[in-house]
Amino acid sequence: ALGLDLCRGSLPEATSVDLSKVALVAGVVDGRNIWRTDLDAAIARLDDAKALHPASLAVATSTSLQHVPHDTALEKWDDPVLDANLHAWLAFADQKVAEVVTLARGVRQGWDSISEAVEATREVLAQRAAAPGVVRPELRERVAKLTEADRQREDFALRDELQRERLDLPLLPTTTIGSFPQTTEIRRARAAWAKGELSDADYAERMREEIASVIRLQEDLGLDVLVHGEAERNDMVQYFAEQLDGFAATKNGWVQSYGSRCTRPSILWGDVVRPHAMTVEWARYAQSLTSHPVKGMLTGPVTIIAWSFPRNDLPLAQVADQIGLALRDEVTDLQDAGIAVVQVDEPALRELLPLDAARHGEYLKWAVDSFRLATAGVRPDTQIHTHLCYSEFGQILDAILGLDADVTSIEAARSRMEVLPELAEQGFNHGVGPGVWDIHSPRVPSVEELTELLTLAAESIELRNLWSNPDCGLKTRGYAETEESLRNLVEATRIVRAQLEN
Ligand code: GLN
Ligand code: ZN
Repeated sequence: ALGLDLCRGSLPEATSVDLSKVALVAGVVDGRNIWRTDLDAAIARLDDAKALHPASLAVATSTSLQHVPHDTALEKWDDPVLDANLHAWLAFADQKVAEVVTLARGVRQGWDSISEAVEATREVLAQRAAAPGVVRPELRERVAKLTEADRQREDFALRDELQRERLDLPLLPTTTIGSFPQTTEIRRARAAWAKGELSDADYAERMREEIASVIRLQEDLGLDVLVHGEAERNDMVQYFAEQLDGFAATKNGWVQSYGSRCTRPSILWGDVVRPHAMTVEWARYAQSLTSHPVKGMLTGPVTIIAWSFPRNDLPLAQVADQIGLALRDEVTDLQDAGIAVVQVDEPALRELLPLDAARHGEYLKWAVDSFRLATAGVRPDTQIHTHLCYSEFGQILDAILGLDADVTSIEAARSRMEVLPELAEQGFNHGVGPGVWDIHSPRVPSVEELTELLTLAAESIELRNLWSNPDCGLKTRGYAETEESLRNLVEATRIVRAQLEN
């Protein structure tokens, strides 16, 4: 038997294969997304498969069902219209199995035998296409009118000069990637708030206390560019999905992320708009507590798409631009609130790279374009950072340059700065913060080890462009190890500064 993913791939040419002795298993129900199958399209594929005259034909999902949640019947959305719509539009694992059974009956007994199901699906798909929020003409127009100029900042040389003047940072500025430990108390407060046991005001007060303590800690440690710590975020994608129109969160839609970690991706079902600012009040509060610059912290379009279930009725390039526009407005609002440094995280940039090398160019173009759209609306003296992780950056070096972020922090501790010589060779002359502390391990890095990695980094990167920071966010770490590690990081940075300054 030969199983084929006919959602991502296609059938072989009739002339190139002899399937007469093969049981063909046709994966026509998509195992990677959560949308109800277009039965007409599936039937057309199965007809093509039959035309190859396999020994027998079976119907299947395109992959195993581990990437999708269990059952839509376990969900209930508060808005009754959205609830009715999503129940009709979606197919989780149980619904996909039912679709496979329906299609298999059609293969055996003829398509007429499933005409009722086919007709019902046609109606649902037509209703979905016309439903409010799926297409927002004003937004479509805004996206259609975008030009290259909307994605282009001033020359880096000018930005660099103005930002150095405004921020007045020491050599090898120290910073972190955004999150501080998500303690049990923070999670408990959020759970109590969700259950209505903690009022909005009390929850906000709890988060402000947390922010204040994270700012105090960073001042005490001697870090240069501070963060507010992301205590208020359940997850770096879901937090934004919950505030943007066009997304729906699930209550029980768990899927495996890696190992024993699970995540509940949000469903991106409609055109994305930002009804209100999402992060500005927290950033403004954090900045009011310190004279050091506090980084605004956002998640980029590619990562929001990669860690959600995106719609299947619009090219991802357009979805990314819609999210890019929403973020662009947020970045501008942060700037107007006095935030001088804004980081737009794209840890999933490498993850979404298609397996098929022929499709790399197309993907990287929209990925980079949407980031630039999100970040190019600011003044030249506002510093844009980005953060990338999950290593193996070789294939996306051009894209990293293309992002044109003023500062890029990058996972590099485990690979011992592997990516830096390549980056330097490509002529990268913007700021770069290669992570020197591997936060995925619970080990506290010693001053010696951090000094060594920083010195190694300084061999490839011009000193004036080099930053000192951990590998990734600290939300999975505990406070004791975080404090100790950051203290060592600041100490190592001082040593390297003193060694290299003269
Ligand atoms: N700003 C995020 C954090 O610090 C980045 C996380 C990530 O790269 N996955 O948690
Ligand atoms: Zn990271």
